[in-house]
Amino acid sequence: MAIRRLQDVNVKGKRVLCRVDFNVTLDKQTGEVDDDTRVVAVLPTLRDLAARGARIVVCSHFQRPKGKRVPEMSLKPVVANLSKHLGKPVAFADDCIGPAVEAAVAKLKDGDVLLLENLRYHAGEEKDDPELAKQLAALAEIYVNDAFGAAHRAHASVHAIAKLMPVRCAGLLMQKEIDSLSPLLGQPARPFVAILGGAKISGKLQVIVNLLPKCDSMLIGGGMAYTFLKAQGLPIGKSLVEADLVAKAGEILAEAKRLGKTFLLPLDHVVAEKFEAHAPSKVVPADGIPEGSMALDIGPKTVARYSQEIAKAKTVIWNGPQGVFELEPFNKGTFAIAQAVASCGAHTVVGGGESVAAVNAAGVADRITHISTGGGASLEFLEGQTLPGVAALES
Ligand code: AMP
Repeated sequence: MAIRRLQDVNVKGKRVLCRVDFNVTLDKQTGEVDDDTRVVAVLPTLRDLAARGARIVVCSHFQRPKGKRVPEMSLKPVVANLSKHLGKPVAFADDCIGPAVEAAVAKLKDGDVLLLENLRYHAGEEKDDPELAKQLAALAEIYVNDAFGAAHRAHASVHAIAKLMPVRCAGLLMQKEIDSLSPLLGQPARPFVAILGGAKISGKLQVIVNLLPKCDSMLIGGGMAYTFLKAQGLPIGKSLVEADLVAKAGEILAEAKRLGKTFLLPLDHVVAEKFEAHAPSKVVPADGIPEGSMALDIGPKTVARYSQEIAKAKTVIWNGPQGVFELEPFNKGTFAIAQAVASCGAHTVVGGGESVAAVNAAGVADRITHISTGGGASLEFLEGQTLPGVAALES
């Protein structure tokens, strides 16, 4: 079913409730916003609404106050940051529903912006409470959801509210997420290469199972690779392993073979005896991890083979670092894969908090087609699950 686009909605003079994800981080000393990536991500939508004369009511969750008014979890500190970016004053309402909020909304003029207090101060938000949804819906004539990062949650402000709003649409960020992610599970341009990594198989098992039949090649790195290598009977020393998933890893390897997929595991490793920065390290072949060592990164042969596969791709999804990229010198494999993805010229999508941090650290973020802002939401999407916040926008 179709989701209406923001550009197709006439917002002039209308009250627009815009759900965003302002789950920012605050500086512990000053209490001011210190990482405003999530604010910046929704500026295109807010600027567009303001330029077209909407009366903008912005709402978001912030951390987990669990239905109580926790002062440290107020959205108030975001006002100054948002106002700076928009170049205009932003009003603040001390709650997200109720008569005082309705009065503040009624005062808005075309182009004005009002930020509401943390939705999760009300227990009904996380319970998808229809009553809370009704009160939120009463604030506006148009509902815009630009909170992709919250789309996997059936919460009142992303799910129950949507059906109550006759005019509902995706914001520009949400639209970009849907446009970029949908081809991966629909009709990807081929070859379609899936690069998966990160600590464990368990966190991404469903993603592997869902993507395996859809992709042409799957490249595995990071801690999750060692459970697969164990399933192949190779020595893995002290490397990360999920003993309870060794059999499952074996089944996945067999399934990949049955489907005729290119399923690549590391051909060499960077090993160390200690999990710490600058620990003495060496490169060993696939079957050469010494007993007392752990593999903390993919080696140069693996980088070369994976890069060759990525260079042929027309579509790439990357989720999960290929090694312990937070620690030198175990970041090289991940950074090299980031370069390969950035240079391949395909439709490239990077999802998951750690991989996003990795492409940023590698300095290639501007050469990736789409960097998904929603870690949990993009993972659930890749698992093939319906995202309640996206489904609720359909008309
Ligand atoms: P995830 O959240 O599952 O994507 O896992 C990301 C984490 O996996 C990062 O913090 C990496 O340091 C860690 N990681 C990647 N490769 C390895 C490895 N070979 N051994 C241990 N941890 C790893």
